[in-house]
Amino acid sequence: MNLGFHLSLLSIAMSVTCVLYLVQLPKPSDAAQRIALNNFIWFYALSGLATATYFVTLTQTAHVLVFILASTNATMIFVSCCSILLAVRSLSGTPKHILNSPLAWLYSTTCGMFLASLYMFENALVQYTTPLMYANIIGILVLALVTFIRRTRQFNKRHRIFVDSLLVIITSYTLTLIVDLYFNNHDIYFVAFTVAQNVGFAAMLGGIYSFYILQLVEAREHDALTDPLTGLYNRRFLTNRSEWLHTDKLVETAQLCVIIVDIDHFKQINDTYGHQKGDEVIVRFAQIIQNTVREADVVIRSGGDEFVILLPDASLQVSIDVAERLTAAIEANIIPHPDGQFTISATCGVAGSGTEFERLFQAADNALYDAKANGRNQVCVAQVAPAM
Ligand code: GH3
Ligand code: MG
Repeated sequence: MNLGFHLSLLSIAMSVTCVLYLVQLPKPSDAAQRIALNNFIWFYALSGLATATYFVTLTQTAHVLVFILASTNATMIFVSCCSILLAVRSLSGTPKHILNSPLAWLYSTTCGMFLASLYMFENALVQYTTPLMYANIIGILVLALVTFIRRTRQFNKRHRIFVDSLLVIITSYTLTLIVDLYFNNHDIYFVAFTVAQNVGFAAMLGGIYSFYILQLVEAREHDALTDPLTGLYNRRFLTNRSEWLHTDKLVETAQLCVIIVDIDHFKQINDTYGHQKGDEVIVRFAQIIQNTVREADVVIRSGGDEFVILLPDASLQVSIDVAERLTAAIEANIIPHPDGQFTISATCGVAGSGTEFERLFQAADNALYDAKANGRNQVCVAQVAPAM
């Protein structure tokens, strides 16, 4: 029996051990996560098989087997390149589905086959595969470096997952490089390479899998905190301070101002033009608020026709200006309806600036109440007693 066969057995043994380990893990209660875990186990088993095929074919000379060797290897390289790209994307904070269908594998296998046929055509298999492999390793190293340099306080869970999986990949590939450079022994090199390939793949797929799971969790958390009509944060976000960590804008804020804005006589709009038109008005109102506030501000739909604006690191004067621009913009906004058009007005209560949200919120709410009693369509500024 040749070396390739032994390496292949080693590869299969490692994959089977990992698969058995994954299978016995407690299954997540959530259906989507269960599917993701099952996908991951399948992907992992397939990658183990690909590595095994690679080693079986490594020592063969038959044309078709060399083709399989080239395609499996190119597939593996392609998949890891995809994971690198995905990792780079994740750094910009845009999670994307990658493992949601077997298509990912189909694409990469097709590309792998295509690349392999190019190698075959050139008849220079090793010559092309080795530089690609090294380019891949260098790519991973560069990415790890960039990730570490960018390690800031906002470094989130997703980033950490990638750093961890990259660390494992790097360690395993570095091992192969060291073995290759210093031991100069083919047998040891191939054993190290088999281990590195398996461990690297497990880490890579594990990273992608965890990323996918986190994405599901984040999407669910996002839904739980979002108002479906306007797409803004909802009351749950406002009342649960721990949720504020979901937006970088409110993390590390030295002080806050609060504006509460409420549409005047909104019930009449519902009664006169119907509930559907009322919904349209709310959506339009939300858009006007978002167009008026600063990029750094957070807008929340706290109730039916009531919105709260949190202004991090803004002075009271800035907040009053925002509230005044807002009431003016709302008054100027013409809402069409089949029998003509109408306008609405809104009233604002402003409080700031300080560090105790509850006090500010209460003060802004009182100011809103006063402004409503005072005739509506105006801005009222709260007198906030200094904190004791
Ligand atoms: P005020 O000037 O004092 O604010 O008077 P108002 O009529 O606006 O009074 P209030 O703010 O208490 O009324 C809010 C109304 O908004 C009550 C409710 O029927 C309506 N409402 C709440 N949620 C929705 C919604 O999602 N869509 C629509 N169309 N109406 C809603
Ligand atoms: Mg109202």
